[in-house]
Amino acid sequence: MIHDIASVCTYCGVGCDITAQVEDNKIQKIYAQSDGYVSQGKLCIKGKYGFDFVDSDQRIRDARVKKEFIDKNFESMPRELQARSKTLVALDDTWYKANYEFATSLAAWKLATIKEEYGRYSFYASGGARTSCESGFLLQKFTRETMESPNIDNCARVCHAPSLNGMAATIGEGAATNPYDDIYETEFMLVIGSNTTEAHPIVANRMIDAARKKTAELVVCDVRNIQLGKFAKVEAVLPYESNLLFLNAIAYVILKEYLYDDSFIDTRTKEFESYRDSILDDPYANPEFFRSLNGYEQLADQIPYIARTYAAKKSMIFWGLGITENLDGSYAVMAIVNLALMTGNIGKVGAGLMPLRGQNNVQGTCDMGCLPYYGPDYSKPKEEGLKTPDAIDAMLEDKIKAMMVMGEDIAHIHPNQNKINKALENLELLITQELFMTQIAKKSDIVFGVKSAYEKTGVYVNAMRRLHLSQPLVENNLPDDWEVLRDIENKLKGDFLFNSSEDVWEQVRVEAPYRYGGASYKKLEKHRSKGMQWPVAKVDTPRLHLESFRTPDGYGYFKYNGYQLRGQVKMLHEDGGYDKFFLTTGRILIHYNNAAQTIQTPKLKEKHSEDILLASIEDKDKIKTKQVMLKTKYGQTNPLTVKFVKTIKTQTLFCSFHHAKSKINYIFGDESDLNTKTALFKSLEVEIIEVNENQEC
Ligand code: SF4
Repeated sequence: MIHDIASVCTYCGVGCDITAQVEDNKIQKIYAQSDGYVSQGKLCIKGKYGFDFVDSDQRIRDARVKKEFIDKNFESMPRELQARSKTLVALDDTWYKANYEFATSLAAWKLATIKEEYGRYSFYASGGARTSCESGFLLQKFTRETMESPNIDNCARVCHAPSLNGMAATIGEGAATNPYDDIYETEFMLVIGSNTTEAHPIVANRMIDAARKKTAELVVCDVRNIQLGKFAKVEAVLPYESNLLFLNAIAYVILKEYLYDDSFIDTRTKEFESYRDSILDDPYANPEFFRSLNGYEQLADQIPYIARTYAAKKSMIFWGLGITENLDGSYAVMAIVNLALMTGNIGKVGAGLMPLRGQNNVQGTCDMGCLPYYGPDYSKPKEEGLKTPDAIDAMLEDKIKAMMVMGEDIAHIHPNQNKINKALENLELLITQELFMTQIAKKSDIVFGVKSAYEKTGVYVNAMRRLHLSQPLVENNLPDDWEVLRDIENKLKGDFLFNSSEDVWEQVRVEAPYRYGGASYKKLEKHRSKGMQWPVAKVDTPRLHLESFRTPDGYGYFKYNGYQLRGQVKMLHEDGGYDKFFLTTGRILIHYNNAAQTIQTPKLKEKHSEDILLASIEDKDKIKTKQVMLKTKYGQTNPLTVKFVKTIKTQTLFCSFHHAKSKINYIFGDESDLNTKTALFKSLEVEIIEVNENQEC
């Protein structure tokens, strides 16, 4: 018999409602209800077809212990573990298949040993934003309370940490201010650094809809021509690393032409005058500066139009990793907020700010306190821990000896992989909870196969703060992530007395009362199709900052940060050009992050089985081979197939990062956002090495 079960898509931060048709405990089809609140009845290709991973024969359906780990630790193990390890059955040359109870006992013993020998700071945990709030919450609790270490972080470190930083510093809340449907209420949409049709397609549908129906004007700003640009009134192509320059130039025009909202500034904000004076004195803020940048002169004409229209209309700004993954990512976010504050485009229907979060639960994982400087509900933790790049350094310095990873592929998605590989070798214990043998799972000592999002109950929070209580589409006997944590904890202390994900959630409601206090499972079940936007008290909150901001005194704060001349802009400005190539990376529609799940669907894999390097058609004479490798001082990629396109400016390159075999993240280094250490993925000067056919690499 076929059952229809409602839940939420496991992929991107849009968080579409889905319905699965299930027969004999197998998903037959996934679709969206025509009145789906988020989906609007449509799913992208990942949401619709990307469910084969659930039944894949590649799934980890057991616990595994590396043979080498047993050999190294055998002598020091308690007798009982020694005796049990002698009965382990080999899975292959590298791994033993382990009984779950044994694997949790082994993990608990080694964690306790490391804590005793090296101290509490020797533990670090990295949470993935693919896991539920309940699991994220318990991971930070395990780290802070069980291991007594402050070192907890999550994969927002490589995506939207600058959005949280920039928004928290100015308006006190690092989250989207409005619901997606405000796209139908707004008059002007500024999309910057977001390839929305590829990364957040169901939000892009709304933008295209509004632009086509002319209810809102669309302006798209990116370093290349993207699909969404076809629907834009203005498509501004920016030099790499020039977001802050561009945003300050928009502010300059608004200030110079007195287009700002005096009344909003007077009643809702502080520090406007010093901000205004700084921008007007900034040598780079005048849009005329762009006339000095060969190939980008038209921005000097586009910026005044964008500024005037943004200020005059009810406007929204959307951004993605094109903003955050830069040296000044946090500052660019502050520059975005400044625009909203000076024009009063915030705290209203159809006017606001929307950082388009990447994974299905980035917002929730941050809300749960999986950050080194925030506890649940953004409380101040007793002690601030290390951000992931600092934790990597601490591993190299032999200060961190044990690491726990929950649903994040730090050995693929993070930059400077040669360095990360060396750091991981210094660990005495690496535990990973995963669905597949990802790069980090392969390097682990103990691996726990866990339930996927389609096999469990849990809360996910999408990019518009919408809580969705997922329910299992199919059953399996694997543990949930939080159960693994509980079972290890129970062998160390015995404080985690949770028997269900609802038990964990009840604790979340106690420790994160502002956002989640009123969001019981019962209420979330009742609102399963629509979801609820936090903060949830008696009712939910579709829009934030209606009357005051979430800063301590309720005012919005202007923050000025001047652009620092560098990179491609500097070369264009000072030398009139350059002979280098600049690379940017990003997602494509077909795959999701490390592609661990999407690659299991043949339909998706066939469409994109390798990362392709896009280059400008104008550079055909400079790149003569079909494949090239990219090189920097940090490392080298494997051969990448080159595709010449018209949508990229000369001497700039684009590549996706989904396939580990391309080794694209081996060439990125430690350069990162000044405030958050989010890696500079969006501009990298690279050397091109031609690969001749039959050449061995
Ligand atoms: S847009 Fe995102 S949430 Fe919606 S179906 Fe696609 S991947 Fe899933």
